[in-house]
Amino acid sequence: MPQKTLVLLKPEALKWGIAGDVIKELSKTKLRLVGVKLVKVSEELAKKHYKAHEGKPFFEILVRHITGHFHKENVLALVYAGENSIKIVRDKAGATDPSKAEQNTIRAKFGKPKMEIGVFENVVHTSATPEEAEAEIKLWFRSEELTEKVFETKKISVCVEREAWK
Ligand code: ADP
Ligand code: MG
Repeated sequence: MPQKTLVLLKPEALKWGIAGDVIKELSKTKLRLVGVKLVKVSEELAKKHYKAHEGKPFFEILVRHITGHFHKENVLALVYAGENSIKIVRDKAGATDPSKAEQNTIRAKFGKPKMEIGVFENVVHTSATPEEAEAEIKLWFRSEELTEKVFETKKISVCVEREAWK
């Protein structure tokens, strides 16, 4: 199975109107897009996503940032598949601090060079390891929301009440 990776276009990417430019940059990698979803991020999802950063001084700001507190916007989640996709996408994203990101990377081109809100407004999140990618993709997407069965699945029975069109 090809390697999978999660990319999040953070709220500033939508606020600044650069989502299309970022996706264009990502498409240069020639990786295959297998999932896309616009997400209104809850505090619960944010805390799960950033669990590894729990306890760090900027953790609460990270959560407020990704839930759209600063930019009043949602997050666009994407899943890419292809050989070595994790490294390819991280190289394309560039260093965490946009002021230190390599030329021609997404964070160098579009990130805010100066930290103003207490975390870097670095436009994208990208998975760092295969374990992180699997956990993150399973956190952000249901299996049926991806165009391919990228991980093993099982059948479950559910009975839920949900909103539907009238
Ligand atoms: P990356 O997004 O490059 O994988 P990390 O996983 O280390 O970086 O951090 C997650 C996010 O937390 C970063 O994208 C950035 O927004 C923020 N962050 C990381 N380190 C710091 C820091 N020292 N000060 C403020 N914000 C930080
Ligand atoms: Mg990370």
